[in-house]
Amino acid sequence: MKILITGAAGFIGSHLVDRMLTDGHDVTAMDNLVTGTMNNISRHLSNTRFQFIHHNVSNHIHIVGKLDWVIHLASPASPVDYLDLPIETLKVNSLGTHNTLGLALAKGAKYFLASTSEVYGDPEQHPQKESYWGNVNPVGPRGVYDESKRFAEAITMAYHKKHDLDTRIIRIFNCYGPRLRANDGRVVSNFIDQALRNKPLTIYGSGSQTRSFQYVSDLVEGIVRLTGVKHHEPVNLGNPQERTVLELAELVKELTGSKSEIEFKPLPTDDPKRRLPDITKAQTLLDWTPKVEIRDGLVQTIAWYKEQLAVAK
Ligand code: UDP
Repeated sequence: MKILITGAAGFIGSHLVDRMLTDGHDVTAMDNLVTGTMNNISRHLSNTRFQFIHHNVSNHIHIVGKLDWVIHLASPASPVDYLDLPIETLKVNSLGTHNTLGLALAKGAKYFLASTSEVYGDPEQHPQKESYWGNVNPVGPRGVYDESKRFAEAITMAYHKKHDLDTRIIRIFNCYGPRLRANDGRVVSNFIDQALRNKPLTIYGSGSQTRSFQYVSDLVEGIVRLTGVKHHEPVNLGNPQERTVLELAELVKELTGSKSEIEFKPLPTDDPKRRLPDITKAQTLLDWTPKVEIRDGLVQTIAWYKEQLAVAK
């Protein structure tokens, strides 16, 4: 198949590119490199089944030839990034989603939207089922991401219902693995980077807030499986093993053997207190369940960070 992946030079996008090429597909990778990097995909540039287009999908998209899938992953996705790029984030999830939907329609392609657990905001129901409508502050700092992803889901459903476009929507819960940028500000990247540099691990708030971390290969497997199933309503993809941020800090310290202290910092505004996916739908629909234990995933991730540090020296 011929697949367009937007946000292909990003963390998740680049892993999906690897997988789609391995599976024998032709991949057109699109990215404006605002938060992504060519380092993540440059190894494919000599592959005749791969092409890269440097483009901001918030502007009109022109692709020559046929497409079977448009997979829209492009967006700043870490709180630090979308606070720094609030307008770009709103635009890529609204205009960018509109443009990619229009492209899919024009090409007769299927459409896949990467949405987020952030559509649940600071949830008041645990675990979060797809049927939960969420608790989002539209004008808080996270509103630029949360509301634009909610819009993206709404317009994707509208294209499905109005134009009969064959669509998929996933809600991605916290994901980690190699290529998660050291400076992207997320908790896993911060802790590993800090631990390896023997700097204090920065815990925001008391560290009692929880997240559920999935390894990137599990997520990619879920994405691939959903392309094979006709289901248009949103599907949660996440690992239901919940842990506190403090537990994560201790685990990273243990696995890196770091002597870093733990430093407590103020909790950012609207930081969700608890996040835990209900993945019953993905389990029944896709026969999918996350396979990678957090210890194993962190070991792989730490090894990649060590390589990056060695290259930088
Ligand atoms: N966090 C932290 N220290 C950091 C970075 C993040 O304690 O250096 C906390 C953050 O406040 C949140 C959780 O870790 O409660 C997950 O943050 P992240 O930015 O990774 O993603 P989120 O799930 O909030 O989008």
